[in-house]
Amino acid sequence: MIKKILIANRGEIATRITRTCKSMGIFVVAVYSDADKNALHAREADQSIHLGDSLAENSYLNYKKIIKIALENKVDAIHPGYGFLSENPDFAKALKKNNIKFIGPSVSSMKSMSLKNDARSMMEKAGVPVLPGFSADGLSENQILKKCENIGFPLIIKASAGGGGKGMHVINKKNEIINKLEGAKREALSSFGNDSILIEKYLQNPRHIEVQILADNYGNIYTLADRDCSIQRRHQKVIEEAPATNINLEVREGMAFQAKQVAKSISYSGAGTIEFLLEKNNFYFMEMNTRLQVEHPVTELILGLDLVELQIRVANNEKIILDYNKDSIKGHAIEARVYAEIPEKNFQPSPGKILEFNFPDKPYLRLDTGYLANDEVSSYYDPMIAKIISYGVNRDDAIKKLSFALENTRLEGIKNNIDFLNKIIKVSAFAEKKINTDFINKFWKKLISSKESKDLLLDSAAALYIKFRSSYYISKSLSPWHNNINWRHLGNDFENISLIYDKEVFNYEVKILNSSEFLVIDEERKNKNIFKILNDDFSKKLSLLRNNKKIENIYFTVNNDNIYINQSGYSLNLNIRDKFYLDIKLEASEGSMDSPVPGKIAKVFSKNNQQVKKGDILVIIEAMKMEHSILAPYSGKIIKINVKEGQQVDEGYTVAQMKEK
Ligand code: ADP
Repeated sequence: MIKKILIANRGEIATRITRTCKSMGIFVVAVYSDADKNALHAREADQSIHLGDSLAENSYLNYKKIIKIALENKVDAIHPGYGFLSENPDFAKALKKNNIKFIGPSVSSMKSMSLKNDARSMMEKAGVPVLPGFSADGLSENQILKKCENIGFPLIIKASAGGGGKGMHVINKKNEIINKLEGAKREALSSFGNDSILIEKYLQNPRHIEVQILADNYGNIYTLADRDCSIQRRHQKVIEEAPATNINLEVREGMAFQAKQVAKSISYSGAGTIEFLLEKNNFYFMEMNTRLQVEHPVTELILGLDLVELQIRVANNEKIILDYNKDSIKGHAIEARVYAEIPEKNFQPSPGKILEFNFPDKPYLRLDTGYLANDEVSSYYDPMIAKIISYGVNRDDAIKKLSFALENTRLEGIKNNIDFLNKIIKVSAFAEKKINTDFINKFWKKLISSKESKDLLLDSAAALYIKFRSSYYISKSLSPWHNNINWRHLGNDFENISLIYDKEVFNYEVKILNSSEFLVIDEERKNKNIFKILNDDFSKKLSLLRNNKKIENIYFTVNNDNIYINQSGYSLNLNIRDKFYLDIKLEASEGSMDSPVPGKIAKVFSKNNQQVKKGDILVIIEAMKMEHSILAPYSGKIIKINVKEGQQVDEGYTVAQMKEK
């Protein structure tokens, strides 16, 4: 019996596995790297053990160390999650040798599916439909060119050992082949340690449909419905749903049948997924993932199953009897992957610290997260923060509920794709079930935020900020230390502030009309708007009127010289330049200037022993692609600058020390 499990993973999947283990009364051992010292997965486990430094090679991929920890702590089994060691047959083999159960299939099943080339040719021989294609390994340039021409263009080059959508290149014409092939080989070798390459026909806008498999060690193989994972960016899934929609019964049953054949042909045991590409009622085997998938929750919700529990039971050598048939599918589930990334900048990852993370608590919503408020999304690992999953009586209902979830999730301090996800499911083609892998490309203009919505949030931020500042002033002014600040009375004149968004500066003049109304002027953009703030508890959702038109569902946070404003999931991270506010803040600092954020020192403007004037910039820190200036709080002498350009600093690190004149 498995009583103690080590989870060789991190982030949301580690916390998700922990949840099931605890419900089964199993003791959980977590492992963590330096960067994950305070991570949620380590906090939630019964015991957590340090694994190594932040580099994955020295921690989550270091299986010798993991096995050593497992032996020392007498764990019965290891759950690998997905990614990292989950599809590494050498790891599974080493566990077997050490008498530790691997929660996954046998070494030989894993091996047969670990290279796309081998898997493909094996499946082709077994009669499973595959796209025309070939292994480029060991072939001369001429042979490759000939084979490509025979298949016809476009073609796709894939790293045979690849994963996560990496190492794929589309070839549109003959003269691109050799160049792209060479690049792909180099990339495959450096990313996956193997330069084996597969070339196959490229379908322009297919659907990605996959079948969930569960098999025990007694010959019971179940196909647990299918999923559509066609909504992808850079060949990586972002929205997944179950069951796959708009598929005729014959095709659906054909895929389930073939998936079962695949599993049978390699005597599969445990949970696995067979992936197909579907185009015009023809489907083609793409690959098998011999592990739990990121998107497994959508299957769990429509079937009322816990796949992690089933994996553990299979590893326990239990016979799995499921009363499963077509009618077992109830309702519809959709998952959205929340990433710390900037969709507009080619989905560039944007790590950083999460300041707020509130998620609506509803029975029809599920949040699988690796992070909570105050946690750091590190640049060492995948930028996925969480998965938001909705369950509805039907697809339309699930879309509506997912949209509600995305609009009412408050995720601040870190750039993310929540608004982008919401926009995807709101495109009418999504509701009309017209989905394929080209969807994001095709509807790109509808998915990125418009200039109007950006301007609206910027202008609102200017009004809200002045309101916030006066509340801040009032609370500070109650303290005897702050009653000497030269604050003009409300309504007297204009306040000048600048908001910086993505290096662009917006200069505002804000006139305080009364305690809740503000005239916000941006001369450069010729904008004049009257804002009325309808409720002013900044810890809650706010609503405003702009020229009498209601704007709802706003969250507004000020943290040092950063502003986070969010409307229905669309958020901006802004930098504020406001001499008055900085003055109030700097009053408090005595002698030492600490970094307000974790980041990199971009520029050092001062030296030891230098005389500086109040307000001079001493150091600029870059974090989450934004610049934060550390200013001299008073005129005086620098005692010591503790940083160099390029240095990484933690939040609270003392950047400089000085003495008042
Ligand atoms: P990975 O193992 O990196 O996830 P997959 O082989 O599962 O790679 O493919 C990921 C995605 O790449 C697919 O879902 C699909 O969108 C695209 N893709 C892969 N092969 C083809 C192909 N032959 N034609 C069109 N798209 C493809």
